[in-house]
Amino acid sequence: MEVTRVYLDHQASTPMSCRALDEMLPAFSECYANPHSDDHAAGWEAAQRVEASRTQVADAIGADGEQIVFTSGATESNNLAMLGLVETRRHRSRVVVSAIEHKSILATARAIADRGYEVVTIPVDPLGQLDMAALRDAVDERTLLVSIGFVNNEIGAVQPMEAISQLCRGAGALLHSDAAQALSWDAVSVDGMGVDLLSLSAHKAGGPKGIGALYVGPAAADRLRSIIHGGGQELGLRPGTVPTPLCIGFGAACNSLPSTQQVAAWRAVTVSLLDRLRALFPDLQVNGALEPRHPGNLSIRLPGIDADVLAARLQPGVAVARGSACTSGLPEPSHVLRAIGLTAGEAGSCLRLSTSPATTEQEVAFVEAAFAAAIRGMARAPACR
Ligand code: PMP
Repeated sequence: MEVTRVYLDHQASTPMSCRALDEMLPAFSECYANPHSDDHAAGWEAAQRVEASRTQVADAIGADGEQIVFTSGATESNNLAMLGLVETRRHRSRVVVSAIEHKSILATARAIADRGYEVVTIPVDPLGQLDMAALRDAVDERTLLVSIGFVNNEIGAVQPMEAISQLCRGAGALLHSDAAQALSWDAVSVDGMGVDLLSLSAHKAGGPKGIGALYVGPAAADRLRSIIHGGGQELGLRPGTVPTPLCIGFGAACNSLPSTQQVAAWRAVTVSLLDRLRALFPDLQVNGALEPRHPGNLSIRLPGIDADVLAARLQPGVAVARGSACTSGLPEPSHVLRAIGLTAGEAGSCLRLSTSPATTEQEVAFVEAAFAAAIRGMARAPACR
């Protein structure tokens, strides 16, 4: 089939897996009863589908079904994990985050600071790796919660969760991780990571938009409180009617995650894309460490190129992102790119290309040709924004 468009923004959102779509669609018309209605068989059937989906999500991260709370997505999971704890443990008054967290963590941390908590932000090195010495200094008997994203959405950096967990355990602090970008490549194990709370989002891993989950481990279970008020659904932690079809789609997506072999092939396609772009842009720089890294992330800096202009010239053929989707539209440069030491001008020449396990060599060749055409005649002045 001839390639006419290539989507390279899978870290913003993925297409739904065929299996997730197939399983979810009939549920809209066949499984419409309220899963919390326990007076009739239709309600029991919906509840049974929700619980089966919960188990699928739990299995994907090595958890038990009763440790999974369905939410509307990772933004809500992050809010619940952080705000849901701060009211309960006044004797610990510090919350620790990293400088490259998603905005849903950083904005929540600001809300926590407004409530009188001390928020400590840990820097990262130029490769996007957490400053472990700074973390060690920040985590002590005053620390309530540490929230460190497992895989960064802009530069693909992967943090050493096990080592972070050991620091937290030693100080009796709880550990939360935003793993929204990790689920799609089968890297998540709550035990291996040593986390107490973990956020997921279905639409980053072949599931539908509008649903996510928060894993709540034993140490966090009796401390977490709901942040909205309503009925007692989701163990009282997330009131509101659970969306059965979305749960089904999320569960099916968790059952269709790529195998280790498929992830290796995915990484190879991303490397092939990098090689082709390097041939076009000899001074291309990759943002973040090459290893460990999200298999589909290619955050690149093209010195002298205005990324806004290049991204626009690539339309409608190639979908790429300038920084993260959540920050695009805002005039300031990405906080993640600034945190790894780039100037505002340098950040203005960065693009994020994110492949999927389904991205083909044919598509990669199309992207190379599209970049070659887009830069033809483009001014190569120092980019600024
Ligand atoms: N955390 C990370 C790391 C993300 O990449 C995103 C999506 N950009 C979110 C949280 C928010 O996820 P959702 O869209 O499910 O609210």
